[in-house]
Amino acid sequence: MNFSYQNRPKILESMEKMELDVLVIGGGITGAGILLDGQSRGLQMGLIEMDDFASGTSSRSTKLIHGGLRYLKQFEIKLVAEVGKERAIVYENAPHVTTPVKMMLPFYKGGTFGRLTTSLGLKVYDYLAQVKRVERRKMLSKKETVTREPLLKQDGLRGSGVYVEYRTDDARLTLEIIKKAYELGAKAVNYVEAKHFIYKDKKVVGVKVEDLLSGQSKTIYAKHIVNATGPWADHLREQDRSKEGKYLHLTKGVHIVIDQKKFPINDAIYFDTPFNDGRMIFAIPRGQKTYIGTTDTDYFGDPKEVKMTMSDLTYLIRAINGLFPKQKLKEEDIESSWAGLRPLIHEQGKGPSDISRKDELFLAKSGLITIAGGKLTGYRKMAEKTMSVIAARIQESESRQLPNSETNKVILSGGEVGGSAQFEQFIENKIPFGKEVGFSEEEARQIIKKYGSNCQLIFELAKEHFWELERTGLPLVVSSTLLYSLEHEMAVCPADYYVRRSSLLLFDIGLVKKQKIER
Ligand SMILES: Cc1cc2nc3c(=O)[nH]c(=O)nc-3n(C[C@H](O)[C@H](O)[C@H](O)COP(=O)(O)OP(=O)(O)OC[C@H]3O[C@@H](n4cnc5c(N)ncnc54)[C@H](O)[C@@H]3O)c2cc1C
Repeated sequence: MNFSYQNRPKILESMEKMELDVLVIGGGITGAGILLDGQSRGLQMGLIEMDDFASGTSSRSTKLIHGGLRYLKQFEIKLVAEVGKERAIVYENAPHVTTPVKMMLPFYKGGTFGRLTTSLGLKVYDYLAQVKRVERRKMLSKKETVTREPLLKQDGLRGSGVYVEYRTDDARLTLEIIKKAYELGAKAVNYVEAKHFIYKDKKVVGVKVEDLLSGQSKTIYAKHIVNATGPWADHLREQDRSKEGKYLHLTKGVHIVIDQKKFPINDAIYFDTPFNDGRMIFAIPRGQKTYIGTTDTDYFGDPKEVKMTMSDLTYLIRAINGLFPKQKLKEEDIESSWAGLRPLIHEQGKGPSDISRKDELFLAKSGLITIAGGKLTGYRKMAEKTMSVIAARIQESESRQLPNSETNKVILSGGEVGGSAQFEQFIENKIPFGKEVGFSEEEARQIIKKYGSNCQLIFELAKEHFWELERTGLPLVVSSTLLYSLEHEMAVCPADYYVRRSSLLLFDIGLVKKQKIER
């Protein structure tokens, strides 16, 4: 059965009919990782997501698989080492959603870092994250820096360090994990909200859920229930009456998108803001656009309503104009934006940027397991940690030993390209198939890069439905990938496709504005 929007009711129905081993509430990267970990260890896993998969924080990040160089400043050595090493694993298992990019770290007279500290910091990072030899840091002189990035402010510039980070597509990474878990037998549905817990002898044994598309209420039973609802995690803990001790501290982060013509940079750049607030900002080229972020401010509102405000916008524009004074960017230059919430664990007396990005497990007396905090990059380790609690409980209650997690070797959906080193060759080999069904070479390349080994399915759909797709009036690249996302990625609403599956609304809003679907 395809992972399609048509099969969504059947998948939900099948969850209702059985007792799952584990029900995961929340379809962000954390929930997705747990789903895959458990299913690949032979458990019957299920997942519900109240909106679209990855519609929470997991489509609103800086989209980097990184060790978090910044955390070295806070001496978070263990965090940097752990998530840093994860970069190579994510890249290997999903090279189609992970792209190595050069990141420049310019340093200025009187700035946070000088030549020595930058060089040392990057060296420690290389060591902790076990960075591959070819990707290790390089130090550049002022002249070399300006040759590479002529738009940088030159006054006070002393040089730069260049290192490699991995740019990802956070929403697609989440989806590829869920699709892989589904392929292995897991059940997952979007637009289904957990409303109330069901208890037996004070232990949580199930969840009353509502299918937000049909309005129907359903009941799902599971031996173990995980709350992986990110910014909403405390809400579910409150429902379970187990919110005690540590709690969430939500901080908002905003990104803006500018056309490359208005802000042409060659490499990604990670720089100090000019406000002496100790914050650093990324400017990252992506296709024809550059995106910039992020802000970091406390947030107390409804997580569903998080938006960019004028003061967020002004902060980011002033930060860019501070480092790239020639550009004189204005509000009108911003094409799109996104705002997300970091579900951090509150630490007394610490401000938004100083709170640790560590993850934390909360084990309630009812049996509810909550996992929160952490980073996109560390999703596999967070899943392992959560599943190890469940493995211990299964050992105790069923005297059954679960095999160890091997998700470090599980290739994600679309990742069957022969390994990261072979990906370029894979793309070249597949281009003729795309051209054969009517795509230009560039379009075929784009599809293969984004969908990896699943490109074949898209090419087949384009061939089989060519005339119907033509009649939609949409470019073939859009209509065929839209059809793929309906039939194989459970897209339900236009935003599911335009924001999370194609990210066209973020990175090609001009194309979206031009579209009018013919019926
Ligand atoms: C601005 C910003 C930049 C970041 N940049 C990076 C980065 O570059 N690299 C990195 O590694 N990390 C980054 N992070 C951190 C990372 O994005 C988050 O740690 C991660 O996405 C959190 O995922 P999650 O699954 O825990 O939460 P979410 O993605 O929010 O998922 C939780 C899901 O639970 C669902 N849900 C809630 N309540 C219910 C319910 N009752 N029933 C069913 N479903 C429910 C929600 O709809 C939501 O989709 C960034 C975060 C922010 C905010």
